[in-house]
Amino acid sequence: MDAGAVAMDSEDGKSYSSRKEMWLQEAGEDAETSRDPDLNKKDEWYQNGIKYWTGVEATVDGVLGGYGNVSSWDVMESDRFLLDVLSECMPDYVRGNRHLVALDCGAGVGRVTKQLLLRHFHEVDLVEPVQHFLETARRDLKSHILESNVIQDHSLHRVVNFFATPLQNFTPEPNRYDVIWVQWCIGHLTDQDFVTFFLRAKVGLKPDGLFVLKENVSKCGMPNLFCRLTTFR
Ligand code: SAH
Repeated sequence: MDAGAVAMDSEDGKSYSSRKEMWLQEAGEDAETSRDPDLNKKDEWYQNGIKYWTGVEATVDGVLGGYGNVSSWDVMESDRFLLDVLSECMPDYVRGNRHLVALDCGAGVGRVTKQLLLRHFHEVDLVEPVQHFLETARRDLKSHILESNVIQDHSLHRVVNFFATPLQNFTPEPNRYDVIWVQWCIGHLTDQDFVTFFLRAKVGLKPDGLFVLKENVSKCGMPNLFCRLTTFR
């Protein structure tokens, strides 16, 4: 969003004249100079996010804000997108002779991992800060081993790591991931923390790895109007 645009706080309907003003008021962060944030305010911003999700039931319907019915459509579109980009960017993926690893960021109860990523990737790691979500994902996915039905390599696909941490504190292992998938959670990070996470994520990617960001975007106030998938290299 450019600095002149009006940014809305959807929680309590506050509006701000600029992105800079919003971040300053909401999270004590100077979005332009990246100088000395107000750490108490920033802490409060992140705690409020966690507090909200801690009160939400650990189900697909819960993490999708009551719109659990969109999950299969969401997965179908992501699946098509992933097949396209992997086929184009990683030719050895199609031949089935590449060991693929993905990271699911803000993974919730593991919906994206279970329904999408495990179909394509041999190893998937989850990073999620809300304890009861991650525990549900762990219970559901620990012994969930899938034989790939997308690429015909007949090798087993499984979850390897469950990281209980928020993205602003997470640093991926260097050079581990073919794809870092960030879906419906990046709005929790302040602009600066997103940029610094993005830079750390780059180090976590293999040289031809992809960073995928899937978010709702809106041209007119209300969110949830469009869903946009974007890759970065
Ligand atoms: N990506 C999942 C969950 C979306 S709900 C899916 O599509 O099914 C948003 C998720 O973001 C919740 O699981 C919430 O706990 C998580 N979240 C909240 N604050 C976060 C933060 N600072 N870093 C990473 N994830 C966060």
